[in-house]
Amino acid sequence: MEAEAANIVDRAARICARRGERFTPLRRRILELIAAAGRPVGAYELKDQLGAERGPVAPPTVYRTLDFLDGQGLIHRIHSKNAYVVCAQAEAAHSAELLICRACGRVAELPCKALEQHLIDHAATLGFAVEAVCVEVAGICSDCRDKAATAA
Ligand SMILES: [Zn+2]
Ligand SMILES: [Zn+2]
Repeated sequence: MEAEAANIVDRAARICARRGERFTPLRRRILELIAAAGRPVGAYELKDQLGAERGPVAPPTVYRTLDFLDGQGLIHRIHSKNAYVVCAQAEAAHSAELLICRACGRVAELPCKALEQHLIDHAATLGFAVEAVCVEVAGICSDCRDKAATAA
C-alpha cells in the first residue's frame, strides 16, 4: 500500500505539472493520506492527521485542497459518506461510478460509459443538461462475501 500511495502521488505531480497547476506540499500530503488510507477518508479526519503533523489546519483550507484535488480528477468525493477516495484512473476527466462495500467500507471504481450516456440521454428528455455524474452503489465486496461464506 505504501508503494502504491507513492505511485499515486507521483502520477498526480506529473498531471499537475502538465496542466500548469501547483502541486503544493499540502495538496501532496492530503492526497498521500487519502491514498495511504485505502478507504474513504473524511475531511475532519484529514484535518486531525495534518494537525498532528504540522500544527492546526483550518477546515476551509482542507476543503479548498480537497476541492482542488477533486477538480483535477485526482480524488472522488463520496457524497453518501462525505468522504474521499483516490481516483483509479486520474489521467482523463470522467464521471465516477463507485461500488461501496457496506461491510468494510472499501470503494472500487467501475468506469461505466454506457450508464453515464444513458443518464445523460434520459436527462435530456426532461430538458436537463447533465454537468457531472456520480453514481454510488451500495453492496458487499468480494473479500467480505468470501469471509461471510467461510464463517457460515
Ligand atoms: Zn476516477
Ligand atoms: Zn468489503
